[in-house]
Amino acid sequence: MPNPVTIRDVKTFLIQTAGPGTRFIIVKVDTSEPGLYGLGCATFTQRFRAVHTAIEQHLKPFVIGKDVSRIEELWQMAMVQGYWRNGPVLNNAISGIDQALWDIKGKMANMPVYDLLGGKCREAAAVYTHADGCDPQEVLDNVRKFQEQGYRYIRVQMGGYGGQAAQMHRPEGCPESGSYFDPRAYTRNMLKMIEYVRSNVGDEMELLHDVHERLSPIDTVKFAKDVERFNLFFLEDSLAPEDIEWFRMIRQQCATPIAMGELFNNPHEWRLLIEERLVDFIRMHVSQMGGITPARNAAIHAQIYGIRTAWHGPGDTSPVGHAANLDLDVWAPNFGIQEWCRFDPLVYEMFPGLPEVRGGYLYPNDKPGLGIDFNEKLAAKYACVDEVDVWTQTRLPDGSPARP
Ligand code: MG
Repeated sequence: MPNPVTIRDVKTFLIQTAGPGTRFIIVKVDTSEPGLYGLGCATFTQRFRAVHTAIEQHLKPFVIGKDVSRIEELWQMAMVQGYWRNGPVLNNAISGIDQALWDIKGKMANMPVYDLLGGKCREAAAVYTHADGCDPQEVLDNVRKFQEQGYRYIRVQMGGYGGQAAQMHRPEGCPESGSYFDPRAYTRNMLKMIEYVRSNVGDEMELLHDVHERLSPIDTVKFAKDVERFNLFFLEDSLAPEDIEWFRMIRQQCATPIAMGELFNNPHEWRLLIEERLVDFIRMHVSQMGGITPARNAAIHAQIYGIRTAWHGPGDTSPVGHAANLDLDVWAPNFGIQEWCRFDPLVYEMFPGLPEVRGGYLYPNDKPGLGIDFNEKLAAKYACVDEVDVWTQTRLPDGSPARP
C-alpha cells in the first residue's frame, strides 16, 4: 500500500465582507501532497470566535497526521472524541474539516463531490430568493423584479422578520435598544401582504414565507390554516425547535407545506419530524449539523419518508457552504429547493468558482471537489469585526426577550 495522504495543517479564516451578517468562517486543510488542499465551511456568524478556538485549539491537534481518505471514521471520532457533542460550535468546527475532506477526496478522484455521493439527479438546483418591503406594494414590486431576473420561487416578507406593527404599546421604562415586534399584528399584516402578492402575480409563481419562529404555537397553527388558501410552496420555521410536537396539530388541520430545521444541531431534533411525516422539507444549516457527512445521511433518511431537502442558504452560509449545498442538491433524489442569497461581486472575486444562478437555477461548475477556491490575499483585507448584533436582541411589545 502506498503511504496515505495525510492532513499536514489546518488554517481558519474569519472573513467579513459587509455587515455582521456576512461573517464567514472558512477552513483550509492542507495535506502531505504538495498543492493538494480542501476548503470547508464552519460558519456560525454570531459566535465566530468560539468556532475558531474549537478548530485551532481542539480539532486541529486531533486531525493533524490523519489519513485524508477516511472521512467517515474521522467524522465519527471527531463527534465523540470531546465526549459532549451536537452543539452548534463544535458541529460547525467539525463541518469545516469534513467539507474540506470531501473537497480533497473529489480533487484526488478528479470528480465533483456530487459524483462521490452517487452522481447527479439533475443539472442544476432551483433556488428561491428573498423579497421584502415596507408595504404590500413594495413587496410586490420586488417580487416582480426577481421574476424578471428569472426567479420562479420567491420568499415574501414585509418589514423583516416579525414585521413592523403600526403601533407598539410599550410599558414605561422598557428598554430602548433591540428589535421590537408584535406577533398578533404580524399575522394580520402578513396575511394581507401574501393575499395582495398572490392576487397580483397569479397562481404560477411559487411563494414562500418564513415565520422565523416568531409566533406562539397556537397562533402558528392558526396562521398555517389561514395562509393555506394562498398555496405557499412552504411555510418556514413556523415553530421553534423547542415546540416541534405542535407540528402534529398543524398537520391535522391544514395542508400548508411545512419546512423546518435551520436551527437544528442534533439528529434527535429532526428524527421525529421525518418519521411522523410532520414536515415536507428539511432545511438544516449544513455546517451547523456537522457537514456533508451528516447532511447526506439526513437526506437519505428523509427520502425514505417522502420528505424533500431545502438546505439553509442565506447570506450567513459561506460561499464554500453554498458550494457544498449545491453538491447535495444536484445529487439528492429528494431535493426540493435551495435558498439563495445573491452574493455581490466582491464575494465572487474572493471565491473563484462560486456557483451562479441563471434563469432561477443554480448551476455547479463541475470542477473536482467542491469546485470552489479562495483568494486568501483578498480575504485578508476583510477580517471579522467584533460587534454586538442588534437585530437578534428581539423584544415583544412589553419589552421581554423573544426569539429572533
Ligand atoms: Mg429561515
